[in-house]
Formats: sequence, structure tokens, C-alpha cells
Amino acid sequence: MTDASLRTSSYVIYVDLPDDPGRMLLVHGYSGAYDVVSRKVASYLRAHERGRPPKPLYGAWVTEPEFLDTDYQPSADTVESLRRRGYLTDMTAAEEEGYLAKIAGMLHEAAQQRLSWIFMPNYDCNLRCFYCFQDHMRTDPAYRHLLRRMTPALVDRLFGAVRDIEARHGVTGPQRRSIGFFGGEPLLADNRAIVEYIMRSARADADANFWAVTNGTDLARYADLLGADGIAALQITLDGPSFEHDKRRIYPDGSGSFALIADNITLALDRGASVSVRMNIDRKNIRLLPALADEIIARDWHASKAFNAYTYPIHSSNEKTDKQTTFNPWELDVALDEFRQEFPQLKIIDRPDDRMRKSALRLFDGAIEEPALKSEFCGAHAGMYIFDALGDIYACWERTGDKKLRIGYVSDDGTVEFNAPIATAWRSRSVAVVSACRKCRYALQCGGGCAVLAEGKRGTLHANYCDAYANRFRAMVAEAYLAHAAGETAADSVDRVCDL
Ligand code: SF4
Ligand code: SF4
Repeated sequence: MTDASLRTSSYVIYVDLPDDPGRMLLVHGYSGAYDVVSRKVASYLRAHERGRPPKPLYGAWVTEPEFLDTDYQPSADTVESLRRRGYLTDMTAAEEEGYLAKIAGMLHEAAQQRLSWIFMPNYDCNLRCFYCFQDHMRTDPAYRHLLRRMTPALVDRLFGAVRDIEARHGVTGPQRRSIGFFGGEPLLADNRAIVEYIMRSARADADANFWAVTNGTDLARYADLLGADGIAALQITLDGPSFEHDKRRIYPDGSGSFALIADNITLALDRGASVSVRMNIDRKNIRLLPALADEIIARDWHASKAFNAYTYPIHSSNEKTDKQTTFNPWELDVALDEFRQEFPQLKIIDRPDDRMRKSALRLFDGAIEEPALKSEFCGAHAGMYIFDALGDIYACWERTGDKKLRIGYVSDDGTVEFNAPIATAWRSRSVAVVSACRKCRYALQCGGGCAVLAEGKRGTLHANYCDAYANRFRAMVAEAYLAHAAGETAADSVDRVCDL
């Protein structure tokens, strides 16, 4: 190193480019720089990392790229350009960690101004999927009190609360509200009147766009509410082709739901709504994905720009789910990758991390100028407010239905009361406050992982949940770069409604 005051930044991500062993892609964790360099330069940077523990903090499962054993010394111009792009720094490791935390703090503050609202008209559902994290609410009589429906009087109080909370965030004047429906099953046929009432109330004093996470079984009852000016985006789950789905997503009498849902997806697309089909995948149903891709093709859904299908690993969230049968997202990415070689029709179904690949491709295409950096993993730590039919307010949908975990509630007179310790625990979580994340190269790409999964593993929301992020990020960015070099462009695609 020519300038003794410089050290390699702690936040350099080294990405191997398969089929291009002479070069590597460098990504800088907070400057937003992406650069292809020779492996010699990358190895030089790696050799000058100081103040880092020898093992990556994010776990031994991270495969490290190979570096050259070299005493290569770049030219003064190269050193200067590495410094300008952020790869070399004159900050000490501690100073740089503080700097990262400061950027994360600013990103977190901005995210907390982006409010979003989720209404849960009820916790009930007409299906009985074995892996549902809310299964106990319908099967254990101790939770029967939860199975009530929102009333118009409560909706009036909730919209009073929306205005109050907006004012507390300093959000005033006309703005467009993002309003989601979640349950239980929010779009049950019997919920139609209250859903319509929520939509009318939302529009009474502001523009609004509506979306729903729905099982899709009763959508025909909502046909006239679907479309760009109504419920514009739907996330619907299919668990495989009809013969497998009908074993998993079943009615209480054991009958299947595939045919009804499939007809309703066609209906929603015809009405102009966008549909994101999510497939919950484990080791038992993955081999059935080609058959599902065939069903999608036969119904011509894939021809619509408003349609997208993606896979998501089933997490073992209740005692009925066998951990041995589940994937993490990285394992699922790899399994699907191999599978796509054999079954090319699987290209119409996204791997869990294809969205990451698309973002990187947009960056390489020039469709976006800078990578999106974030300090938190999801809206639960920013501006997402979830209202249930009891008037309780939650930060995270996986934690709804348990009063001890509510961040607040709307009282009978419409006053919003916050439960400060719980609200603070949720809203303060960012990579700036999780000690492993502050030191992590991937901090502002990853956001710290899902807090619920972190709590399940480590007993606190304020812990990291890496979920193989390092491998996933590097693999998707490398793929995107090579695809870009081969002339691929980021095709328009429907964004997923949510990542639950
Ligand atoms: S389950 Fe995890 S990712 Fe989803 S909202 Fe809750 S904390 Fe966020
Ligand atoms: S930022 Fe993500 S990958 Fe890094 S330590 Fe935190 S959870 Fe793990």
C-alpha cells in the first residue's frame, strides 16, 4: 500500500464471476459502488483488510472466494481510484463501523416516514393448511375470541388512528396511502361488506392503493373490486400442481381448493389486477414444480405482464412441520437452479432470490442509477401498522393475535395507546443496533434478516438472522453481471406483494 494511512474498507464484498477466473466483481457495502477488477486487485484489497476477525461474523457456512497469494502492488492511479470508490479508506475499523451505523440511522429515519397500513378483517380462514402459523387460532378453542370480524364502528376508529399516527410521524396533507388486507383470509365471501367499507373509508380523505394477501378461494365475490382502481395487487399461494396442492391447501372437510383458486387467478388477471403466485416449497413438493409450471403455461397466465410466480421456502413455524423437510432460501436457490437444467419450463417460476438478481440486472442495465440500500429488513421496523378486528396494533404479521406482543391499540373512544417497550423493540431494530450486523459487509443490502426468525433462534429480536444471505447475494449479483454481459436486460416484472 503506498499510503500507510489507508486500509481496505471493512465493507467490501468480493464476488466471484464463474467462467471468468481472472476477474472479480467488487461491491461496496455503503458507497454503492460496483466494479469489475482483476483478481490481482481484489486479492490485494483482501490482503490489506485489517481489524477484521479471521472468520466472517455471519457464520462458517459462508463459502469464501479464492484469492491469489500475491505481493502485487497497484499503481498510484489504481490506489486512488480504489479510495474514491470506497474500497480503501483512511478510517479505522471502529470509525468505519460508526460511519456505517450513521448511514443506517439516516436510512432508518427515512424508512420510518414511509407509512403503510394493513387491515386484518378477521383471523378466521376457510382453509386448514398444515403449516399455517395461525393454525392454533382455528383449532384451539382457547383462541376462539380472536375469530371475530371487524365492524364499521371499529373501522371508523381505525381511520381516526391512521390520521393520528400520520400526524405523529409528521406526515400531513394529501398523500397516497398503501392499504393491504391480510388475515386469516381477508377476502372471505362474508367479509365483502367490511372490505368495501374499509376501501370507502380509506378513500374518504386520501388517495389509496389496495393490495391483498389472499388464498384466492372466494375472489369471485370481489370481482368488481379488483383492478387498477380497486384491489390492484394480489398474492395468492399455490402449493404445487392440482393433485399436490389439493393435499395441502384444503378445506376443513379435506377437499382441495386448486380449481377454484385457478379460476379466480384468471378472473383477477382479466379484471386488470396483478397476481403474484407464491409457492411454499419443501423437500417433499419441489419435484412437482415442473408440473405446476405446465399448469401455469396451459392457463396462459405467464403471458400476462401482470403475473409472476415465485417460490418461498416453508419455515417450520409450528410443530406439525418437520424441520428435516425444509430448505433455507439458498438451498432452494441451488436446488431450483439444478432443476431448471432438466426442466426449462421452470424459468417462468422465480427462485426465492430472483428478485435480487433482477435488481442487480437493472443496475447493470442503467435502469436504476444506484443500488437500493436499507437499514432494516422489513416494514415491521419502519412504518408498517397492522390493525386487527380487536383494535390491536401490531408491527409484524407473524406476531398478530397475541396481545402481549401488540405495539399498541385503539381504545373505545378512538385514542391510540402505544405499548412503548414493545413498540420500541420492533421499531428500533436496524443493522445499526445489531452488533453482528454493524460489522457485516452485507449490512445495508441484507437489513439484518427476519426478526421473528432471529428471535426464534436467539431469543431476541435484536439479533442477526443471516439465512445464508452472503451466498445468496453473491450468487445473484454474479449471475446478473454475467447475464448483462451476455446481453440480457431486466424484463418488466410484477413486484411481489410481500415476503411473508
Ligand atoms: S415475519 Fe419477519 S419479515 Fe415478515 S413482517 Fe415479521 S419480522 Fe418482518
Ligand atoms: S446484515 Fe444480514 S448477513 Fe450480515 S450479519 Fe446481519 S443478518 Fe447476517
